[in-house]
Amino acid sequence: MSTVAPPPQESSDSTEVPELKVVTDATCTFCGCVCDDMELTVQDNKITKAKNACVLGKAWFLNHHIEDRPDATIEGQPASYEQAIERAADILSNAIYPITYGLSDTTCEAQRVAVAISDWIGGCVDTTTSVCHGPSGIAFQEVGEVTCTLGEIKNRADYIVFWGGNPAESHPRHFTRYSLMPKGQFLPNGRKDRTAVLVDVRKTKSARAADIFLQVKPRSDFELAWAMRAIAKGVEIDPSIEEQTGISLERLTEVVEGMKAAKFGVILFGMGLTMTRGKHLNSEAILSLARDLNKYTRWTAKPMRGHGNVTGADNVVTWQTGFPFGVHLGRGYPRFNPGEWTSSDLLARGEADAALIIASDPMSNFSQPARDHLEKIDSVVLDPKLSETAKTATVAFTTSTYGINTTGTVYRMDDVPIPLRPAFDSPYRSDYEILKAIEKRIREKQLNGNLSS
Ligand code: SF4
Repeated sequence: MSTVAPPPQESSDSTEVPELKVVTDATCTFCGCVCDDMELTVQDNKITKAKNACVLGKAWFLNHHIEDRPDATIEGQPASYEQAIERAADILSNAIYPITYGLSDTTCEAQRVAVAISDWIGGCVDTTTSVCHGPSGIAFQEVGEVTCTLGEIKNRADYIVFWGGNPAESHPRHFTRYSLMPKGQFLPNGRKDRTAVLVDVRKTKSARAADIFLQVKPRSDFELAWAMRAIAKGVEIDPSIEEQTGISLERLTEVVEGMKAAKFGVILFGMGLTMTRGKHLNSEAILSLARDLNKYTRWTAKPMRGHGNVTGADNVVTWQTGFPFGVHLGRGYPRFNPGEWTSSDLLARGEADAALIIASDPMSNFSQPARDHLEKIDSVVLDPKLSETAKTATVAFTTSTYGINTTGTVYRMDDVPIPLRPAFDSPYRSDYEILKAIEKRIREKQLNGNLSS
């Protein structure tokens, strides 16, 4: 981090010029690429330049401003942190079936405390993974994962299959920093040394960057992946696969032969695969295809993750419970059952009686029955913004923004932990500080309750 002299002012009545600060190697937490080469120029608690950021990263940094809101509210009325922490601890420790949800846009340190709170109160802990790559989380449990880092992709991957995603628009620096374009240790000519295939139901912007575009018919990814597994193994397949998938057998064979001839391959799959018909069976098919290809050469598969620290949420919840999301801790030991203990389902069935929502906005994207129930029960919400969920919260905390105002650790989409270098302080507390205070108060209440009973 360095401080440089401000530019000369032509004429001003005031001699006070805000200090100009440059933060190097800062980290962008807007998407799962978690680019850690940002150079941020900060003036008067405002980021004025974000060098190296893509269009999404620039919007994330340059539009950031500290909102003028109370530290906390209780039933819509301004409250101090202490009052709000007391009420939050009351709600959570008195609940019979509490849920904790969100976590993909906060630090690993805060995620860890959120899991601990869920454990102390015997609730369910769930993350936004349950509404994006949850099927992949289930598939990992079923068939495992042959994995790699983005660094290995950059240095080694000469054959890349993007499946059900549009990185050109969702992860704008993925192609240039990690996958398609960069020159790598074993790929001195960069893009020229790589073959890229895109599998998708429509011709997105990413298709222009690929050498081969396979336009699969909607809802037939499962059939396509299994056909590729069969071709890889030399099993004769029924030509009706062409009608089912919309891709000729000849084309498919050409791609599979190319994959077998590669030195290092990777399948990068997105929600276009995991959230269509077949869901976790689609992810299982892709992970199995990568595993099968290791009979011939080195192949790997990785999900393309969206939120800045959704991968951290998976890692932290898995370290602590053994499962990545949708975990019930009410019996004193963890149980995993997506569909039963995932937040949107629990709420839609009207089962949860209190909610702790961290850095997420389920009131904007859950089903109507889930939203209706969430509105009825007591909820504690931590968010830097006045989200739809914060508006309906019983207790709402205004928090600082991770990466911009607070330090901590986040996980890149390839499970590599990256430290944060904040640009400037916020007047609001971090998720970690608030959650730690709530946890402390819950423990005090539980211990006092035990002593007096
Ligand atoms: S690709 Fe993602 S992490 Fe990188 S600068 Fe763009 S938004 Fe930020």
